[in-house]
Amino acid sequence: MTAVIRTTNLTKQYGTQKAVDSLQLNVKQGQIYGFLGRNGAGKTTTIRMLLGLVKPTEGQIEIFGENLYKHQKEILRRIGSMVEHSGFYENLTGRENLLINAKLMGVHKKSAIEEALEIVGLEQETKKLVGKYSMGMKQRLGIARAILHHPELLILDEPTNGLDPVGIKEVRRLIKSLAEERKLTVLISSHILTEVEQLADQIGIIHQGKLLEEVSFEELRTRNRNYIELQVSNDNKASMLLEQHFAGVEYEAHGEGFLRVYSHMGQQGKLNKLLVEHDIEVTRVAVSEDRLEDYFIKLIGGGTIG
Ligand code: ATP
Repeated sequence: MTAVIRTTNLTKQYGTQKAVDSLQLNVKQGQIYGFLGRNGAGKTTTIRMLLGLVKPTEGQIEIFGENLYKHQKEILRRIGSMVEHSGFYENLTGRENLLINAKLMGVHKKSAIEEALEIVGLEQETKKLVGKYSMGMKQRLGIARAILHHPELLILDEPTNGLDPVGIKEVRRLIKSLAEERKLTVLISSHILTEVEQLADQIGIIHQGKLLEEVSFEELRTRNRNYIELQVSNDNKASMLLEQHFAGVEYEAHGEGFLRVYSHMGQQGKLNKLLVEHDIEVTRVAVSEDRLEDYFIKLIGGGTIG
């Protein structure tokens, strides 16, 4: 897969503080990339650098295989973005706002506005002024503006910030369908693990300006799979029984009677019953907590993300 965004040693220093510290970001074509970190981790500063709004102290940015600073105008034309404050005129309707934006962006087709409004589900809002919009509607209008010119890369800074659970779900669905239908590459920042988890293929975790990890969700899930832990009197016999009675069982024997079963989650009662019925003493049955969440907490040094 070709890299759409690649940064090398990207650094931004404010006074003595490194807001972004030697970041090596790799976003590949067609990916939804979740850029995850707590408040103040350096997400917005990174995004601002990617959009040419903030100048790095050090490092390089390549987008679509070209140096951002050498080809800024051409590159930015191929990117749609939504960064924090919406900047819409509150006393105009969504459509009127998009008309102004389209002109500024050099988008002359009127159908582009209707198409964008339809995609984000605001086409019926003909009279409502943006000042009367809910937070979710404003976010959706922001996304409509970002896709007016049919970009290849969409960069969204905390697009679900301040939304209620329904709004979050709507925006998530919208991003997913956009990415699929328009074959977009999407970089989306968030401080909420579950939000990114349900959306992204790949994640980059930033903490105190540094990229701690860049990994696919698939890999993370495999590494942090939940399991049922059993402590039994005879692990050889227990293993045999598991294999005989639970088709496709995935487990590991850890010695001294400890077994971890990675498949058949939720069937701990059945497992227990089977073993006991075959005269195996079961001294412990426990289900692991959400290991993915734990993993993040460990990675960013305590506290939850957010
Ligand atoms: P949030 O979700 O809260 O916006 P973030 O991950 O986007 O967090 P940044 O906004 O990039 O984080 O901020 C990273 C660090 O850089 C913070 O400590 C912030 O105070 C600092 N910082 C950001 N912009 C500036 C600036 N213009 N001048 C000085 N310090 C700044």
